[in-house]
Amino acid sequence: MVVGAGLAGVRSVEALRAHGYGGAITLIGEEPHRPYDRPPLSKAVLMGQADSTLVDSDLDVLRVDFRPGVAAKGLREGVVETTEGELAYDGLVIATGASPIRLRGEGPQHVLRTIDDALTLRARLTPQTRVAVVGAGWIGAEVATAARKAGCPVTVVEAAGHPLEAALGPVGAHTAPWYDQAGVDLRLGVAVASVDHGGLTLADGSAVEADVVVTGVGVRPSVGWLAGSGIELVDGVAVDEHLRASMPGVVAVGDCAAWWSRRYGRRLRVEHWDTALGAPDAAVASLLGEEALYDPVPYFWSEQFGHMVQYAGRHEGARLVLRGDPAGGGRWAACWVSGDDTLAAVLAVDRPRDLLQGRRLIEGGQRIDVDRLPDPAIALRDC
Ligand code: FAD
Repeated sequence: MVVGAGLAGVRSVEALRAHGYGGAITLIGEEPHRPYDRPPLSKAVLMGQADSTLVDSDLDVLRVDFRPGVAAKGLREGVVETTEGELAYDGLVIATGASPIRLRGEGPQHVLRTIDDALTLRARLTPQTRVAVVGAGWIGAEVATAARKAGCPVTVVEAAGHPLEAALGPVGAHTAPWYDQAGVDLRLGVAVASVDHGGLTLADGSAVEADVVVTGVGVRPSVGWLAGSGIELVDGVAVDEHLRASMPGVVAVGDCAAWWSRRYGRRLRVEHWDTALGAPDAAVASLLGEEALYDPVPYFWSEQFGHMVQYAGRHEGARLVLRGDPAGGGRWAACWVSGDDTLAAVLAVDRPRDLLQGRRLIEGGQRIDVDRLPDPAIALRDC
């Protein structure tokens, strides 16, 4: 049985069949929709270039008993309690993803997680509608991009000192000029106190008037339904390096799973599309009793203000080397190098080849010539 019909859920069904499992599979999902992809919601859907993002997967061919609009409410070993009664299972994949955090206040606020959220917000993005976006993270930047394209005056309020601070540290500051160039009013270093009717009240007492407020301040793993089940939860479902949970016969994948990474020697929960895509194969193999290790280099991309931004690896504790000049407005990259001169992480801005080659270097773990890194004319694989 698979709980959660997002990307990780449907990929788990596919993986079960690919690994030769011929028995019955039930897939339940809280949303009324067939599984769909989320990354286009803040890009093509918000910009009016797509109305549907269904995952290309034939549920009939997969012989899955798909039950949309059914939510899991509780778990005990061998049984999932749902809004439509109890369902017994022999093996369980938990793939319930994550839910957006909302801010305090009586005023209306949009979040962007589902196709319904995206279509509702899109309908509000009409010329001259004043939009306030809370959070200059990945989602906030993409929403601001779409809202400006739609002709909306946009204010982005960010509590940190620059955009993308949580994800990129000081390197995120190099994306601040993009807001200005797009005509976005970026307010940094000030928190939102509340969302009110007519806009935002900020912690410094000032107000941002807005017709539409979009909150993009992060998500929490959707694991509330597992409370009291006895399954170990540590910022999500705690799973080992084989993606096995503490309850026998249960694995977890995607945004809701915090797995033990052998590569990084710590628990990771990564809210990236690539994780939802890749983890199910290992999880399902583990569930079927095969030996499978999940140990990826995390990868993420974002499309904002006309730039393709891609990131692979993890940069904590590594030293930063820039390739190219972010201030020059052109393509650039940031590399983070570990103490042993191996590449820890790469951020590529409109330099997809750097991402590709950097990711391979990170995976391979070979030493690089750090002195060659700053020269963007030298291919990363030749460093
Ligand atoms: P989800 O996609 O959240 O699916 C989980 C499903 O489980 C949901 O349908 C939910 O309704 C359902 N569910 C929850 N609780 C229950 C329950 N109790 N019972 C039954 N069903 C339940 N990543 C990138 O790498 N690049 C991007 O550019 C990018 N852009 C994004 C843009 C947006 C707007 C969003 C929201 C995400 C974006 N992501 C991006 C992140 C990526 O989409 C997620 O990492 C991915 O969707 C996670 O897949 P998942 O299947 O684990 O979870």
